[in-house]
Amino acid sequence: MDQPLTVPPGRDVRLADFDPDFHEGLDREAADKETREHLDALDGLAYRLFAEAKRAVVVVLQGIDTSGKDGTIRMLASGISPQCLDVRSFKAPSALELAHDFLWRVHAAIPPHGRIGVFNRSHYEDVVVVRVRKLVPKDVWRDRYTQINAFEKLLHDGGLTFVKCFLHISKREQRQRLEDRLKDPKKQWKLGPDDLEDRKRWDDFQNAYDDALTECNTHHAPWHVVPSDKKWYRNLVVARLVRTTLERLDPKFPPFDSSLIMKLD
Ligand code: AMP
Ligand code: MG
Repeated sequence: MDQPLTVPPGRDVRLADFDPDFHEGLDREAADKETREHLDALDGLAYRLFAEAKRAVVVVLQGIDTSGKDGTIRMLASGISPQCLDVRSFKAPSALELAHDFLWRVHAAIPPHGRIGVFNRSHYEDVVVVRVRKLVPKDVWRDRYTQINAFEKLLHDGGLTFVKCFLHISKREQRQRLEDRLKDPKKQWKLGPDDLEDRKRWDDFQNAYDDALTECNTHHAPWHVVPSDKKWYRNLVVARLVRTTLERLDPKFPPFDSSLIMKLD
């Protein structure tokens, strides 16, 4: 069985068409081995991006509660030097953030040239959770798709590459993970009342994501649907995607000024 990771821009994305448990027939051992290889390559690529300091990358991680955003960040950070990474989490906006346009805090979090930003949630919350929880009227969130596309184009034209990942899990897998959080004292802190409330609106979230992934799936910043019921397969897919992106960018060390050799006394 095969499964595409991306949908051509302009076509409807329907999450129901994607199997969250897809894993290429791989087992955990083979997947972990390949992930490690990607991470080893990524360390050197990220270092070159850092040295070049002309372009940046942002990995956007979206997905419902328990979809594995934190675990994906842990995986990337296990392979890439912290000086090359900029990890940001987007929670419910503060009073100051709410006193600005919705992209203000996101623009401020964009990494400088040379770095790889990893966004734990993002501006996509402003067309998903705000829609499902009815935090702003429809005519406000509806206009945001166009605003997001223009914002991502502006950043893309300035040398930023987006790797937008939707971590796709099944409703059954979410139940299992929520149950684990309820029982495990080391995970209980992660569970808030909103998580159980949001689960009741599962279909509304899936629909809101279908629309966000359809409307904001552009050539300059395409979406990837990452099958995430198996954590080790999710890690493999994201590591592969980030590696491929950096290989395509092919960052170069700055040219060496050979006159410096003469200056060493
Ligand atoms: P967590 O990622 O578990 O720390 O939870 C962060 C919470 O903040 C989630 O429930 C998000 O849906 C919520 N959140 C993030 N961004 C926004 C936003 N722009 N508006 C409202 N809620 C948000
Ligand atoms: Mg949470």
